[in-house]
This record gives sequence, C-alpha cells and structure tokens, in this order.
Amino acid sequence: MALKLIQNAALEAPAQGAETMHIGAYKPRGDSIDQYMTCREILGSSSTATLIEKTLMESDKVVGVLFTDQADSMHIPGHVLEAHDTLKIYTGGIALVNPASPLNPSSKWRGYSDDCGSLPLGVSLFHELGHAKQGVEKTVWYNETTRAAMAGDKTARLSIEQDNLASHENKICDEMGLPYRRKYED
Ligand SMILES: [Zn+2]
Repeated sequence: MALKLIQNAALEAPAQGAETMHIGAYKPRGDSIDQYMTCREILGSSSTATLIEKTLMESDKVVGVLFTDQADSMHIPGHVLEAHDTLKIYTGGIALVNPASPLNPSSKWRGYSDDCGSLPLGVSLFHELGHAKQGVEKTVWYNETTRAAMAGDKTARLSIEQDNLASHENKICDEMGLPYRRKYED
C-alpha cells in the first residue's frame, strides 16, 4: 500500500508557496481515515478517481495524505521532502487537503449554476492525488516543473495545473455531473 493517511502528530512540512517555500507545522484536522473514506465514497462512481487511487497504491512510491485547515490544499512533491528525516519516507510527496476550503465553482466554469454550491471535498483530495499521479507517471517532468514553479516560474506552475485538470480533475467532475474549470485560474 502506497497511500499513507497521516493523523497522529503535527506534521512539520515545507510548504510550496507561489514563489517561496517556508516551513510550517500543520496540525491534522479530524480523523484522516474517516475523511478519506467519505471523500472516496462520494466519488464512488468516478472511474478516474479509481484509476488515480489504483496507480498510487500500485506504485513503489509512498504518498502521504493529510487533512488540515492550516494550509491551502496542495501537493508537496517528494523531492522537497528528501532532506527531512521524518518526512523523506513520503517519496511520492504529501497531499495536503483543507476541509475548510472546498472548491467553489465560478460563473466561468462549464456546467455552473447559481445553486451549485461547493464541490465535494473529494474533488480537492483527488486533485492533489492527481498531482501525486503526475509524479509517479511523469517523474522527470514533474520534478523539473515543480522545481521551476517553486522558484517562481508561473508558466511552469500553470502547465502542471492544466495537465492535472485535463488528466484528472475535469474528468472526475464530468463523471460526477459536477461543474468544472476550463482554465486553472477561472
Ligand atoms: Zn493543483
């Protein structure tokens, strides 16, 4: 099993900002197993979510999942964690998921309506796990591009996000009958 739910201790993790990297201590919020299972059940009919999970479970990398409200949802790549004694086991990085800020469709999204509300948290979880899958399947590209993004290259950051939307998030939303973003910044 290469998906590891993190819930026991505060996690000291380097965070990936738009242009800077800083160290923060992220306290888990709620029970990770319960939240993961709830997300998974809600996306039960999404074959893309199933494929993401299967790919990560079968990979030789270990992907951590942490639910916390102390950071924006993001995927911290494994290469960022290599120098950290307690975090280097997460060779496939860590998916941070913030239950307090689910995705909110805007009027630019395909399928948007005034009453569609926030998307299920599972879409956020599987967005971040989609990044982990990019890291498993396109390792060299993902490592190089996330390094450039963390150094402030916005084009690099958007290329990672657009690839993730096209390969994972938009497919999941389409399968679930949910609105989806045409572009990452919409
Ligand atoms: Zn993303």
